[in-house]
Amino acid sequence: MSASIDQLTDWVRRFAAAVHEHRDELTRLDSAIGDADHGSNLDRGMTAVVAALDAEPQPSAAALFKKVGMTLVSTVGGASGPLYGTFFLRVATASGEVTELDGPAFAKALRAGLEGVVARGKAEAGDKTMFDALAPAVDALDAALADGDPLGESLRAAATAAASGRDATIPLVARKGRASYLGERSAGHQDPGATSVTLLVVAAAEALA
Ligand code: ADP
Ligand code: MG
Ligand code: MG
Repeated sequence: MSASIDQLTDWVRRFAAAVHEHRDELTRLDSAIGDADHGSNLDRGMTAVVAALDAEPQPSAAALFKKVGMTLVSTVGGASGPLYGTFFLRVATASGEVTELDGPAFAKALRAGLEGVVARGKAEAGDKTMFDALAPAVDALDAALADGDPLGESLRAAATAAASGRDATIPLVARKGRASYLGERSAGHQDPGATSVTLLVVAAAEALA
């Protein structure tokens, strides 16, 4: 099964809706180990993305994800704006000017997005960041597709892996971002970025089912 441009757009819209719904939770998580703005940051950015897509539907995967990335870079501040922005800009470049992506092409695009996050933020596994949910999700997607599972089922495996990675951030001591300023006191709290990235992967599993 391939993901059509309508399904890819639906992914972005579902992510925006999930961020809006979980805005207070994301902000509460960020108030424990950051500056209490992750929910408001991302909600502002994704609300602007939805407005841009309402004004002008995008004709290709590259155009869609470039619009998302550029909008996030210009509307979301802090760490997560450039990180999510880079993620979507790399997904755009890897996707190309196409109107559908098959499973391997979608997985390749997500892998490129993950590599963009790493290039920008230098996070490694266990640093207690969005990487800790995104990397296992991309690995699980590759593994499921390699097993011959269809894209929707593979994305459900990816969403499960993201949620496990998110939960596993709780005991970690942060080594990147604002939470790292707290040192050992960052342990015992779930990372906000790993939480929002899980919403992103769950939205993909729903939209591309
Ligand atoms: P800020 O910390 O600037 O207020 P946000 O609150 O919007 O930005 O985002 C915080 C999230 O950003 C963290 O929970 C973490 O997941 C993610 N993050 C911070 N620094 C990095 C990094 N270097 N690499 C990957 N993710 C990071
Ligand atoms: Mg913050
Ligand atoms: Mg901030």
